[in-house]
Amino acid sequence: MTESLRGSCLCGGVRFEVAEPFSYTTHCHCEFCKRISGGYGTVSGRVPTSAIRLLQGEELLRSYTPQGGSAKTFCSTCGSNLFGGGWPESESSSVRLAAFGLEFDRKPEAHTFVRSVAAWEILPDDGLPRYEIRAT
Ligand SMILES: [Zn+2]
Ligand SMILES: [Zn+2]
Repeated sequence: MTESLRGSCLCGGVRFEVAEPFSYTTHCHCEFCKRISGGYGTVSGRVPTSAIRLLQGEELLRSYTPQGGSAKTFCSTCGSNLFGGGWPESESSSVRLAAFGLEFDRKPEAHTFVRSVAAWEILPDDGLPRYEIRAT
């Protein structure tokens, strides 16, 4: 039995746990992730939505679904992006790894949506597979 992973937003108003290990972890360089993060994109782990349990602050969460994309959910107090991939309605969801703080040590396993790398963005030469869109 593995210990569940605990995450939170920047202000601490939203707290949650993830009860299963991530099936995969990726950098997403898509334009939506750039805009919501204010930077290169998001770094997420994928799990069945049922493995994500809110512990506190459900009323602070807001979701936005961009046209042609899946719902992204953030804390309405501090703006931290926490969940993507259509949470909570989708079968599986993305959880932003930044919510776990600096101690979380599983490295991402791929770069996705590299077709959307910006002119000001540096794609690291880290040997990870790169996918034009998503990992297959
Ligand atoms: Zn917050
Ligand atoms: Zn993305």
